[in-house]
Amino acid sequence: MGTEENSGKAAVITGASSGIGAATARTLHAAGFSVALLARRKDRLDALAAELGPGTLALEADVTRRDDLLLAAQRVETELGGADVLVNNAGVMLLGPFGPELDSDYQRMVNVNLLGAITATEVFLDQLRERSGDLVNISSVAGRTSRPGDAVYAATKWGLIGFSDCLRKELLPDVRVTVIEPGAVATELPGHITDPETRAQTEASYAEVSITAEDVAAVVAFAVAQPPGVGLNEVTVRPRKQLH
Ligand code: NDP
Repeated sequence: MGTEENSGKAAVITGASSGIGAATARTLHAAGFSVALLARRKDRLDALAAELGPGTLALEADVTRRDDLLLAAQRVETELGGADVLVNNAGVMLLGPFGPELDSDYQRMVNVNLLGAITATEVFLDQLRERSGDLVNISSVAGRTSRPGDAVYAATKWGLIGFSDCLRKELLPDVRVTVIEPGAVATELPGHITDPETRAQTEASYAEVSITAEDVAAVVAFAVAQPPGVGLNEVTVRPRKQLH
């Protein structure tokens, strides 16, 4: 992707304070985009913005709070000229045996992974439409196949695929929609699992087989670099040794 063709374009990335979101910000910035970094941990966003230099905007925003997103959209419009790309990446993966003990984890996953992406999309929709922009949703292989312990996480990621499939049709030709379904990616994601046994098992399996956040960022960059008439609608990207 040539940096010149992206100069003047802005990418908004939710969950940019770590993992896939931070890697995507680095990759898109290197490709010439201005990047708006959204997450709750502002110290991390500030550090990433300082690392990347000009053409970055660090915006503290919780995707479960519509007001945060509205404020972020205003600043992206005034300071970066509006969003050409929105990457709905913010997410939590709070796996564990299904039951009442994890009720608050279920609320959180639905609120962040699914409603957060829906809200960010409707808030940035006008900006994307005006620029024939790209909407990139980070789902998961857990949105295509499931295993015990995944139920609510899988529900959010299957939901994101359905949301993406419908919007691809509803928003064409104005907004190009891509959904990406990564397998195991080495990030801090499993470290936030609250069920201790599931956390230990998941961290062990990630340590054995995973790809990098940069591998997924490269897929995001590839999708948004397609010629305007081409839509890369759905991509599954796994470690080649990962079975499911
Ligand atoms: P990380 O834990 O490194 O990143 C998650 C990001 O989401 C952080 O930047 C975090 O920032 C942000 N986030 C969490 N809650 C909120 C919130 N309420 N508002 C705004 N931002 C929030 O994990 P990954 O990079 O791995 O995960 C990124 C996405 O990729 C997720 O959607 C995940 O489900 C998906 N994915 C990851 C896979 C993996 O194996 N790692 C596989 C398949 C999909 P902060 O805490 O600062 O708000």
